[in-house]
Amino acid sequence: MGEFELISHYFASAACAQGGEGVALGIGDDCALLDVPAGEQLAVSTDSLVAGVHFPHNPDPYLLAQRALAVSVSDLAAMGATPIGFTLALTLESAHADWLQAFAKGLDQMARTCSVRLIGGDTTRGPLSLTLTVFGRTPKGLALTRSGAREGDLLCVGGCLGDAAGALPLVLGQRADDSAEAKALLQHYWSPQPQLALGQALRGNASAALDISDGLLADCGHIAAASKVCLQIELAKVPVSASLQAFADGQTVQRCALSGGDDYVLAFTLPAAKLAPLQAQGWPLHVIGSVVAGQGVELLDERGTKIVQATSGYQHFGRHGG
Ligand code: ADP
Ligand code: MG
Repeated sequence: MGEFELISHYFASAACAQGGEGVALGIGDDCALLDVPAGEQLAVSTDSLVAGVHFPHNPDPYLLAQRALAVSVSDLAAMGATPIGFTLALTLESAHADWLQAFAKGLDQMARTCSVRLIGGDTTRGPLSLTLTVFGRTPKGLALTRSGAREGDLLCVGGCLGDAAGALPLVLGQRADDSAEAKALLQHYWSPQPQLALGQALRGNASAALDISDGLLADCGHIAAASKVCLQIELAKVPVSASLQAFADGQTVQRCALSGGDDYVLAFTLPAAKLAPLQAQGWPLHVIGSVVAGQGVELLDERGTKIVQATSGYQHFGRHGG
């Protein structure tokens, strides 16, 4: 099958590639055309996933596509943006019909969950990798950035942390386990759910936000640096799932929740007065600390004593990554 047949058979004909709100022209021309309503801004983010770095070699194509799109759309959630469309640059060793069929199905499934349309891409031959670029919209000036945290704000997260990191030994084949807990953790790794609705609800409420991809400590460090403040995290308040607690020992649970990464849960700072109204609306907010003067991230034990911070998130080209 040639490149054009492949594109038309697996991608251009997918349900998620049939256009929709904001997509004036989709796959098939030299560019896609997007409509951005007056008074709104376009939010754009690109993520690359490389076999052997971001996911194991020979992944399940359905799960790979789901995860790749969810990871990208999570950046829109972190900005409080409403998804419009995405492009897919796909590099494949070879074109196997079953593989492509499953990949396209996983992509379509997640695209429909997130209400985002496939609007174009590129298809090339080489070691398996994916680059997705997502496009969304936000009312002008209301996007959630990393730089607005202020002294006195609360530090919150939108859900339990560490599940995806807890699943890593399963993903990498270092541990075999088909318990319900193991399945729940794997589900978090392969099918993270971008917190789009929460991000949109935080517009005009949160002072800073991001999605946790590199681990709570590392990502809070990004807010702290951009906002020129210190984020204090109370260890005992960091929410972890019952599945993770059943699956791993206490030390592993703590390491996964603080520095595991791949959570794709929102972390955000909130002026204290905004907490009760958002809680009353039923949003999943977990207050885990506060913003104080200073810089960096501090972890506090139950007595409020600072714990030396020994771990951080995954960094490519850094001290920890490769
Ligand atoms: P060009 O040569 O103009 O870059 P291509 O031949 O690469 O165009 O692609 C033809 C059309 O198919 C374009 O609209 C492009 O966006 C789309 N496309 C190519 N690969 C993919 C893909 N993997 N997924 C979705 N759309 C794709
Ligand atoms: Mg091209």
